[in-house]
Amino acid sequence: MPAELLGAHIPIKGGLGNAVRTAHTMGCTAIQVFTSSPRQWYSAPVGDDQVREFQRAREETGIVDVVSHDSYLINLCAPTPEIAEKSFAGLKGEIERCAKYGIDRVVSHLASYKGQDPGETLLVVAERVSQILDETPDSVTLLMETTAGQGSSINSRFEEIAMLLELTKGHPRFAVCLDTCHVFAAGYDIRTSEGYEKTFAEFDRLVGIDRLRAIHVNDSLKPFGSRVDRHADIGEGEIGILAFELLVNDPRFTRVPMLLETDAERHLENLDRLKSLRQ
Ligand SMILES: [Zn+2]
Ligand SMILES: [Zn+2]
Repeated sequence: MPAELLGAHIPIKGGLGNAVRTAHTMGCTAIQVFTSSPRQWYSAPVGDDQVREFQRAREETGIVDVVSHDSYLINLCAPTPEIAEKSFAGLKGEIERCAKYGIDRVVSHLASYKGQDPGETLLVVAERVSQILDETPDSVTLLMETTAGQGSSINSRFEEIAMLLELTKGHPRFAVCLDTCHVFAAGYDIRTSEGYEKTFAEFDRLVGIDRLRAIHVNDSLKPFGSRVDRHADIGEGEIGILAFELLVNDPRFTRVPMLLETDAERHLENLDRLKSLRQ
């Protein structure tokens, strides 16, 4: 069975309900949104009317799978205590907002090293994640995103993800979002069938396929192993079309939301391209 949940990151101009309706018009069956501005610490409280409007839009469109992406500012192990505290509160607030909206997954980059010792950094991140999960509603799962390793962000290797899962004792509300552009830029060669199988076998061995709860489907503008995070249209970047064909036909991911993070103006075209690859 090919992928059933194909969608994109949709701008929330006009509210979350509006984003759901826009996505539905484009033919999405899953979406990703920001619940507040990703480049600001401040976020306005969520009103009951906004929640109702969002839920109504989901009922009308049948879009159940909604994933939120947290603020780009968040760095749980920031060397400046003030930023670390704001990050802690920010991620907690994001999870609380999602619980209020009825969104069950939040994607986060969590942290970057900024010259700190990697082992110690992961310990700090795991500790803060555990605390955040303890203090937030059970309905929301936190997904750490695989990164390209740009600017020393954590989680460019599956080993780091495995370590964080181990340090948080396999917390049931802690899982993973894999970004195809990021893993490719980080050195996982998914361009060929062999490379694709090897990458996901390694992911399964270290992390577990069952922990994969969302996939960002982006081609890469930058070459293999560049550690630079620049998204390209599907099939038009350095990854090429085969990886995406394998992905949308992989029976392990039939019910895992696959979300485009390419230029919003090109969503429809990229979405149609993904759909055309399904067998
Ligand atoms: Zn992504
Ligand atoms: Zn990216």
